Amino acid sequence: MNKDYSIEQRTWKKDLRLYVHVPFCAKKCDYCDFLSGPSDEESIKSYFEALYKEIKSYEGRTHDYIVSSIFIGGGTPSCVNSEYIVRLLKELGKVFDFVPDENREITIEVNPGTIDASKLTDYKNVGINRLSFGLQSSHEHELKLLGRIHSYSEFEENYLLAVELGFNNINIDLMSALPGQDLKSWEETLYRIIKLNPKHISAYSLMIEEGTPFYEKYGPDGEYKDNLPSEEIELLIYRRTKEILLQYGYERYEISNYAKKGYECRHNMAYWEGIPYLGFGIGSVSFIENTRFNNTNSLKEYQDAALYCHNNIMSTNMADVDKNVLLYDFYGIRRDMISLTKSQLIEEFMIFGLRKTKGISKSKFFSRFGVAIDEIYGDILFRLKNEGLIIIDKDAVWLTDYGIDVSNRVLSEFLFDKSEIYS
Ligand code: SF4
Repeated sequence: MNKDYSIEQRTWKKDLRLYVHVPFCAKKCDYCDFLSGPSDEESIKSYFEALYKEIKSYEGRTHDYIVSSIFIGGGTPSCVNSEYIVRLLKELGKVFDFVPDENREITIEVNPGTIDASKLTDYKNVGINRLSFGLQSSHEHELKLLGRIHSYSEFEENYLLAVELGFNNINIDLMSALPGQDLKSWEETLYRIIKLNPKHISAYSLMIEEGTPFYEKYGPDGEYKDNLPSEEIELLIYRRTKEILLQYGYERYEISNYAKKGYECRHNMAYWEGIPYLGFGIGSVSFIENTRFNNTNSLKEYQDAALYCHNNIMSTNMADVDKNVLLYDFYGIRRDMISLTKSQLIEEFMIFGLRKTKGISKSKFFSRFGVAIDEIYGDILFRLKNEGLIIIDKDAVWLTDYGIDVSNRVLSEFLFDKSEIYS
């Protein structure tokens, strides 16, 4: 990673965020429907070889962009040998330009029980400056119930080691609404985590996803579905989370994310602010030039593509490819490529933007879409304001605490009927 650019050079380049998917885990958790699972060393090695080739396929086409954040997620990226991660970042450094170190955020997801001093040192030396720990709970019985591989004390040991090695920007993922969980046990987890003083805490509710062992047990026909906390308890948990974290200096900046000042996750902000992002690896999603697509979910298709990619580049008439555009699929792995209509972009602006507690800006809406927000959503905004669900203050519109409590309902108000299509 050595291609830093001056402010002058950066002004004309477009901001770009990168996501890299590492689909390997030590063991599958019982609630998880992510594209991830255990694997052997040979498959891990060939996956990374394919990944490096995918990155290389962008060579010469990234001139208009400058990268300010990279998120290495999964899966559990920390369960693979750190040499793969080091090389991954080096390969990205050969193809993309980056903002200087102090403005660059490079995150890797790590799970307790899969890291040690040597891995963490490698991460640090290659420029990773943010860790995201998947913890979920501080209670042994809850960790066990979720099918996690680690204990709380293992997490604490790993966390303190990371701090000792100089990582000062750490997120901890927590999960509420677990079977059998009450407000007391959630608060205990929160207080324990706060004592460690991480800069960022994500607090999501458990989702019962089809196809998981949890769905069998806690889904609509599951024998244990009544063990899930009631909606009232969930709401109490939501409210107490905000109160407690605020008391300890964490600001809620997005519906489920809290941070100390200046430590909001820059990478995730891209998703909520409509900044372009490019995904690498199986299943990863990209949003470039108002076009969304995802890579194939099939490991085999992905690895086969690596074999054909070189030939594909050689046989493509380069005159047909605008070298500054990332939309050309040399690798042949993209699926569901959709160029978003103006209506879809407007919906996303509202739905993602209102997830941030600072909300959206009316003037940004106008400069982006060439039409005043009130012309499109005037009646809805008026009604939601009267119901106490949003606040409108000069240029800004944001959700009230009550609006956040029922955010799914509020955000769905911004979806268009088929009859209201804007082009
Ligand atoms: S560690 Fe994360 S990605 Fe892996 S199985 Fe568990 S929840 Fe899924």
